[in-house]
Amino acid sequence: GAKEMGRNRYLFYTEELNARVQETLEYELGLRQALARDEFTLHYQPRVDVQSGRVVSVEALLRWRHPARGIVLPDHFIRLLEDTGMITPVGEWVVRQACRQCREWHLAGHDGVRVAVNISLLQFRSNSLVYAVRRALTEAGLAPQFLELELTETVLADDMGQVLAQLRELRGAGVQISIDDFGTGYSALSYLTQFPVDYLKIDRSFIQGVGLREDHAAITRAIAAMARSLHLGVIGEGVETSEQMRFLQGIGCNVMQGDLFSPPVAAEHSADMLAIDMLAAADTRTPRGRRR
Ligand code: C2E
Ligand code: MG
Ligand code: MG
Ligand code: MG
Repeated sequence: GAKEMGRNRYLFYTEELNARVQETLEYELGLRQALARDEFTLHYQPRVDVQSGRVVSVEALLRWRHPARGIVLPDHFIRLLEDTGMITPVGEWVVRQACRQCREWHLAGHDGVRVAVNISLLQFRSNSLVYAVRRALTEAGLAPQFLELELTETVLADDMGQVLAQLRELRGAGVQISIDDFGTGYSALSYLTQFPVDYLKIDRSFIQGVGLREDHAAITRAIAAMARSLHLGVIGEGVETSEQMRFLQGIGCNVMQGDLFSPPVAAEHSADMLAIDMLAAADTRTPRGRRR
């Protein structure tokens, strides 16, 4: 009867729910073991100075080589790393690995290139960041000016004193600091005068609106102008079309990162990427939006 059907349905949902909980637990357990099992890897995306066509720096982007799911992108696990505290050891691994890789590029003759690493707010709370960064640089034999740390505005909006002290120490040691996804956070602009910052990265969402939305073009223009008057470097991210490239050039933003030049590539191909004339590469590339 109807009652029985109701119960069956209840059982069915419970089973499905259990399966889903089980899957989540397995995923989390897998993530906990990923570092020890050497399943993390870094992909590298170049930033091109369009005036010379040369790669000036490279962003390191974390990937998880999941035994069953294949390559998992950070949006699917960074949050979990943060919630479980695992972001500290994993983040330290990222810095170590990126410094080593950068040193290898230098030894291969690409000796001016800098590597950029994303740092989560939680890593500033651990208080081991400064030490971990210094040690990674020393171990790799990399000079500090070749390491750039990318922070989002949420880092700056947090406990100012604690973050500021660590940033000053890092910057004092010669490490470069950039603000990632600039323009999407909620913090006041005044922090730019208080924090030691070297670069602003214009968020991809604004750049992708260039040519489509006048407000996005206006914000992009304003960020570039502000960076210039504050004597900061500016990097356009998520550049996919030559129209976006020309727009950025026109407003004095000459360093760009995006699929127009190259998507993030695995470490073993990263040295080849540094040897390519990126402007020629952009010319022959048929721009296509990636599926996210
Ligand atoms: P992000 O730091 O803003 O990195 C840029 C993201 O934009 C990357 O996504 C990159 O693949 C993507 N991208 C670059 N150019 C284009 C383009 O032309 N078109 C499109 N559609 N996308 C483009 P990814 O690698 O999935 O990383 C996502 C976010 O995960 C990063 O955003 C960063 O916030 C975080 N993340 C990545 N690696 C790390 C890490 O080692 N530590 C921490 N804490 N966060 C990381
Ligand atoms: Mg970044
Ligand atoms: Mg970004
Ligand atoms: Mg981002």
